[in-house]
Amino acid sequence: MNKDKRTLIRPEGLPESASWPVVTPIMPSVVYASETPDALDDQYEGRTAGYTYAREGHPNADLLARRIDTMEDAKGGIVLGSGMAAVTAVMLGLLKAGDHVVGGDQLYGRSLRLMGQDLPRMGVATTLADPTDAQAIAAAIRPETRMILVELVSNPTLRVADMAGIAAVARDKGVLLVVDNTFTTPRAFKPFAHGADIVIHSVTKLLAGHSDVTLGYAVARDPQLQKAIYDFAVTTGMTPSPFDCWLAERGLATFDLRFDRAEATAVTLADHLAGLPGVRRVLYPMRSDHPDAARAQAILGNRGCNMVSFELEGGRAAANAFARAAEGISFAPTLGDVGTTLSHPASSSHRALTPEGRAALGIGEGFFRVSVGLEEPVALCAQFTQAVSAARGA
Ligand SMILES: *Cc1c(COP(=O)(O)O)cnc(C)c1O
Repeated sequence: MNKDKRTLIRPEGLPESASWPVVTPIMPSVVYASETPDALDDQYEGRTAGYTYAREGHPNADLLARRIDTMEDAKGGIVLGSGMAAVTAVMLGLLKAGDHVVGGDQLYGRSLRLMGQDLPRMGVATTLADPTDAQAIAAAIRPETRMILVELVSNPTLRVADMAGIAAVARDKGVLLVVDNTFTTPRAFKPFAHGADIVIHSVTKLLAGHSDVTLGYAVARDPQLQKAIYDFAVTTGMTPSPFDCWLAERGLATFDLRFDRAEATAVTLADHLAGLPGVRRVLYPMRSDHPDAARAQAILGNRGCNMVSFELEGGRAAANAFARAAEGISFAPTLGDVGTTLSHPASSSHRALTPEGRAALGIGEGFFRVSVGLEEPVALCAQFTQAVSAARGA
């Protein structure tokens, strides 16, 4: 078969080369030409492999998906246009009206919105429960419960779910366990080894790592479920861009190094913050003063994550002064970037809650979440020292 056919409208074809590129080419072609109708039959009927139309799949997406499959010890995962596309494809691809879903009560904000507003509108009932308490998850299960969605480490208080307890509940009740592994990543935690049936990622965050693409990933252990997720994603057009997939593949080349560095700096920063006057408390799952320290140790071993949260004394005035003084750190609601970013849940991710609702979660006006990046640790800690001291004067 001629893979580089010259046509009237594109007469040049590719230049000849006996050698080949070491970097994956970007393949933006939406359509793929076939030789004959017979060749197309062969392809559709699985006797040959090939692409037809990019919404159904394209080489850059597949290369990226295979890379993430390897990291998750999975097979046949798909890449989608965003992390929320992945969450949505899993839920709407597998659920039907009359089903019920149990979700962790501190899921990612848009996942909470999907559970609270969109699924009920389509006849899927939902219940939120505390994932640090497997009894609470078990108590929320009904005869028509089909799925449990949890994250191991919650945003922004970094509570650690009782994954062993929840996996036992899911197994007992015959319910699918879906784990959004965005925060911990397969470097720290592999959900399939802990009883998950489906794993989701926002590739946008640590995996791609440079805040220049939005992408998601979803994989089910059961190929039939995977097929249903894939079909829903294709039908509803959750297609990822080849260029974004290429950027994320490039980002993945340094993922292990980035994760290890950010994680090590997070440990240092958490201890540093805990020693600064004006910091009321620090939340980091690997610190012995974290409420879930024992569970974090049991499930993550000596791994951690790059997220640290802390609370300043002095409320909103201190928070404003801190953000202003932390000049070298972006105050931006994302995570997993090469640069350290700060988020203030009370004015962003958790602004829809009442002050009482936030207080119940332990999120006051002085509360910040830090996604630790790749800065030189001493310089980063110095920046926090200086900004915390500015906040004390506010
Ligand atoms: C960001 C995020 C998502 C959504 O991902 P997008 O790529 O922004 O759509 C889902 N889950 C978690 C835990 C996230 O942090």
